[in-house]
Amino acid sequence: MDTPQWGTIGQVRRIVLYGNPILRFPAQQVEKITPELLQIMADLLTTMKKKDGVGLAANQIGERVAVIAINPQSCDLDSPPTCIINPKVLITEGVIEAEEGCLSFPDIYEIVPRPEMVKVQGISPEGKELSIEATKLLARALLHEIEHLQGVLFIDHLSELRRRLLASRLKEIEAREKGECE
Ligand code: ZN
Repeated sequence: MDTPQWGTIGQVRRIVLYGNPILRFPAQQVEKITPELLQIMADLLTTMKKKDGVGLAANQIGERVAVIAINPQSCDLDSPPTCIINPKVLITEGVIEAEEGCLSFPDIYEIVPRPEMVKVQGISPEGKELSIEATKLLARALLHEIEHLQGVLFIDHLSELRRRLLASRLKEIEAREKGECE
């Protein structure tokens, strides 16, 4: 068999930090599930689990493809962690404010308003169409990760004032990212 099966062993990858331009580029839609894509998805899952993340977007490990990983178990739900290819928000309902963080912004947590419920459609790593309906933390994670694929970051939802208050800490993260890239 030439195509590796989903279930490829993933590696822990470096998480790209704020300041790296890849976080601002829109991701490319996936046309075909290739062995390279399976490897990226396995790495994404492994990295998310290692970092105890609720979710992770492919550009956060330096890959410009429209794939996210999501971990319902860290939201106390039964479904195992998985990846979603070309995820798309179909419906949202309500709005709820809660604290949010991002693995690309170490130690920064801010209150962000998000829809309370979301319905997301996409493709599973096995190539099947899937749709997920989620609320609360999982809904928040899905919306956060899907925004990553559009080059949008959670700090974009903050007020001018909050961002100004965070400016020096954001600069520190940018400097750290620059250092790690050299
Ligand atoms: Zn994030």
